[in-house]
Amino acid sequence: MDDGLEGGTQGADGGVRGFTCRFCGAPLVHSFVDLGMSPLCQTHIASEQLHEMEPFFPLHAYVCNHCFLVQLQEFVSPQDIFTEYAYFSSYSTSWVDHARRYAEMACQRFSLGGRSKVMEIASNDGYLLQHFVARGVPVLGIEPAANVAEVAIAKGVPTTSRFFGVATARALCEEHGQPDLLLGNNVLAHVPDLNDFVGGMKILLSPRGVITMEFPHLQRLMAENQFDTIYHEHFSYFSFVAVERVFAHHGLTLFDVEELPTHGGSLRIFARHAENDELPVGERVTALREREIADGFLTLERYCAFGEQVKETKRKLLAFLIDAKNRGKRVVGYGAPGKGNTLLNYCGIRTDFLDFTVDANPYKQGKFTPGTRIPILSPDAIREARPDYILILPWNLKDEITALGAYVAEWGGKFVVPIPEVKVV
Ligand SMILES: [Zn+2]
Repeated sequence: MDDGLEGGTQGADGGVRGFTCRFCGAPLVHSFVDLGMSPLCQTHIASEQLHEMEPFFPLHAYVCNHCFLVQLQEFVSPQDIFTEYAYFSSYSTSWVDHARRYAEMACQRFSLGGRSKVMEIASNDGYLLQHFVARGVPVLGIEPAANVAEVAIAKGVPTTSRFFGVATARALCEEHGQPDLLLGNNVLAHVPDLNDFVGGMKILLSPRGVITMEFPHLQRLMAENQFDTIYHEHFSYFSFVAVERVFAHHGLTLFDVEELPTHGGSLRIFARHAENDELPVGERVTALREREIADGFLTLERYCAFGEQVKETKRKLLAFLIDAKNRGKRVVGYGAPGKGNTLLNYCGIRTDFLDFTVDANPYKQGKFTPGTRIPILSPDAIREARPDYILILPWNLKDEITALGAYVAEWGGKFVVPIPEVKVV
C-alpha cells in the first residue's frame, strides 16, 4: 500500500470500511489529501477548558475514481452544525454587495418581477433575498438555523426554518408553489446527502425555472494550494465536470457558468430542467468543461498528485518559521478563521511559532484556537507587541488586512501569507 494512492483504516475492499461516494456509491479508496487528525474548526476553546481534552477527527479527503467527486467522510451532522448557527452573512459588507449585484443581474437576465417567485436555500439572515424584496419580487428563504431565520423574518424576508431535500421540496411545492429562480450560495459543499438535495431541487423548480449555485472551484483550490479550505463541515469539493454529472443525473442541465473571485475562486452555475430547451447551453459551459478535461480532471493521477504538493507547502512554511525563530524574530498570527484551523493543525504550528493571533470578532477574543490553543486577542495586541512577522491566516482577505495594518511598518513589521506558498508581502 505504498503507492501513495491509498490510506485510512483499510477494509477488505482496500478503502475505509463502508466509506462510499456520496454521489455514485462507489467505494472510496483513492486519497486526495490526508491532513491528519483535526478538531472541528468552530470549536474555539475557552480558558476554563484548557485542561480538558478535545475531540479530533480524521481530515482525509478522497476522490471517487468513478465520478471524480472529491469528498470527506461525514463525522459531524449538519443538524449539529447548522441548527443554532452563529454566522450572520450580513456582518460582511463585501458579501452583501456581492448579493446586491447578483439580485440586479438575476432580475434583469430572467425578467423577474411582482409575479415571479424566488427561493433561496440556506438563506441565512436574508442578506441576499432582501434585495429581491426591495424590488417587489416575492421571495421565500429556506434556512435550517431557527435563530438565523428569525433575524431574516424580522427584516421582512419570509423564511421557513428547515433542512432542504426531497421531502422539504414536496412540502414547499404544496405550501408555496414552484420558484422561477431557486438559488443557493455556499451550501452545496455542506450537504451530506447530495442526491437528496439535488433531487429536491429538481422537484421544486418550476418547469421554465432557473437554478443558480455558488461554491468554491476545485480547480482553483488545487492550482493555488488552498488545502486549508478543507475542513470537516465542508463535505464535497466540486470541479465543473463533477458537478455537471451530479446535476445531469437528476435531470438538470447546466446551461451557463461564471467564474467568481469569492472564497479564493468560486463557480456560479446556472441550471434548468433537461426538458427545457428554451435556454441553450452557452459557450462558457463547453469552454470550462474542455479546460478541466485538458487539465486532467477526468484522470485519477491529477488528483493523487495533490497530496505531495500540500506536503511541500507545509515544509516551506515551516522552514520559514524555523528560520525566523532561529534569527530571534517575533511572529504572531492575524485572524482565527476556519481555514486557519486546518493550516495550524496540519502544520503543527502552536505557540512555539506564533505568540498569539488576533481577530476582530469579539466572540473569539479571549479564546484559543481549536487543537493548537493559540490565544486569540484583539487586533490592538499587534501594536503593543510590535512583532517582526504577522502571518495572515484568512489569506483571501490579504489586501484588506495589509491596508488596515499599514502601521506595522513603523517598527519594520512585515505581513506574511502562507498560501499558495509562504511569502512576505
Ligand atoms: Zn462517485
